[in-house]
Amino acid sequence: MIRPTVARVDLKALQSNYRHIVEFVGVRPSDPKLPVGVRPPSDPGVLPVVKANAYGHGAEQVAKALEAAGADLLACADIEEGTALRAAGVEAEILVFGALSVSDLDGLFDCRLTPTISTPGAARAVQAAAAKYRQRLGYHLKIDTGMNRLGFRFDNLRRTLPELLKSENLELAAVYTHFATAEDVDSVLFREQRERFDRALAQIDAMSGGALTGKGSTISGGPRPYVHAANSAALLRDARVWFDRVRPGLLLYGVVPPPLASAVDLAPVMSLGSRVVGVKGLRPGEVSGYGGRFTACRPSTIAVIPAGYADGLDLRLAGRGAVLIRGHRAPVVGSVCMDMLTADVTGLDVSPGDEVVIIGRQGADRIDVREMAATIGSIPWEVLCRIGSRIERIYT
Ligand SMILES: *Cc1c(COP(=O)(O)O)cnc(C)c1O
Repeated sequence: MIRPTVARVDLKALQSNYRHIVEFVGVRPSDPKLPVGVRPPSDPGVLPVVKANAYGHGAEQVAKALEAAGADLLACADIEEGTALRAAGVEAEILVFGALSVSDLDGLFDCRLTPTISTPGAARAVQAAAAKYRQRLGYHLKIDTGMNRLGFRFDNLRRTLPELLKSENLELAAVYTHFATAEDVDSVLFREQRERFDRALAQIDAMSGGALTGKGSTISGGPRPYVHAANSAALLRDARVWFDRVRPGLLLYGVVPPPLASAVDLAPVMSLGSRVVGVKGLRPGEVSGYGGRFTACRPSTIAVIPAGYADGLDLRLAGRGAVLIRGHRAPVVGSVCMDMLTADVTGLDVSPGDEVVIIGRQGADRIDVREMAATIGSIPWEVLCRIGSRIERIYT
C-alpha cells in the first residue's frame, strides 16, 4: 500500500541529461581568451552534484544511475552524505563540498571521500588526520573569489596557502571556486570572480612550481591538479569557466536556472502526482478550508487532493497555483493544509480516483518546477529539495 501522492523519478531522463551536458561541454568554442595556460588536456568532464538527497530525487538511485552513465566523480554536501553513498555501494570518487568539522574526519578515510579544504584550520586538521592514518590524501582547494562563504580569500593566498601546499600527507588534486551570481547575465561580480579566479590559478601555479600548467612536476609526481568552477548557470553562460570539469546540479535534474534559457536538450527528471480522494459541492457564499479564504461565488465543485505542506507543498500555492486534472488547470483554492489541498474543479466532471498532476505533464499542459517556484516566490532548487520524505519515490 502506498499513498496516492508519489514522485516519479525518471532515471533515463537523468542519464540523458547527463550525456547531453557531457556533449555540450565537449564542444568547446575556440576562445583565444582562455585563462593562463590552464587549457585542459582533454574536453571538460562533468562533476554531477548529488547533494541534499540528489535535490530530493534520492541520492542513492541517482548516484548509481549517473555511474552507469559514465560519471566517475560525484559531489555531495558533507561527510555524512558521502558515507551514505558509499554504504549504498557507490564506487565513483566522491567530493565533499562542505566545511569539515574536526570530529567527523574519520569518515574521509573510512569511506574514501575527497575533502574540500577551504581554511588553514581545516588544512591542519586534515593533515593531522591523514598523518594518523599514514595516508596521502587528495583534496580540492577552494578559492573564495567573491561569494564570501567558503574558501581561501583570493587576495591573500601568498600568506594562507604555503603551509597547506607543503603538507606532507595532502595532495592537491584540484582547485575550484563557486559563483554567486552566475544566473544574472548583467552581473559585474560574475566577471570579477572569473578574473580573480584566473589570477588565483596563476598564483597557485607559481606557488606550486608549475603544477597546474604542467610546466613543473607536481608536488609528489602524481597527476596534474585540475580546475573546476561552473555550476549549472555558469556552464550555460560562459565557456571560459568550464575549465577541466563543470559542476551541474539543477541542470542534471532537467531544470534550467531562471531566468536563463537552455542550449542543452534536457528533460525534467521528477514529476509529482496524486489522485482525487474527495469531491465536494459548494453553494454560492460557502467557504472552503482553514480561514475560510475561498468563497464560492457560484455553485462550485472542490476536489480534495492528499498532498499538503507536510509533503513540501508551499502554503502560498493557495489562491495562486494550480494542479492539472482531466487535462485542465484547476486553481488551488482555500488553504494548503498539512496533508491535503483543495482545487476548484467546477465544470470538470471530476470523480474520486482521478489523476492529479502537481508537477509534470498532463495532456497538452505542463506545470514545471520553475513555474511552481515563480508562483510561490521561491527558487526551483528549494522546490525540489523540499519535496517531502513522506512522498514515495518511484523510479523508472
Ligand atoms: C550546489 C552546488 C553546485 C550545483 O549548483 P547548481 O546551481 O544546482 O548547478 C555546484 N557547486 C557547488 C559548490 C555547489 O554547492
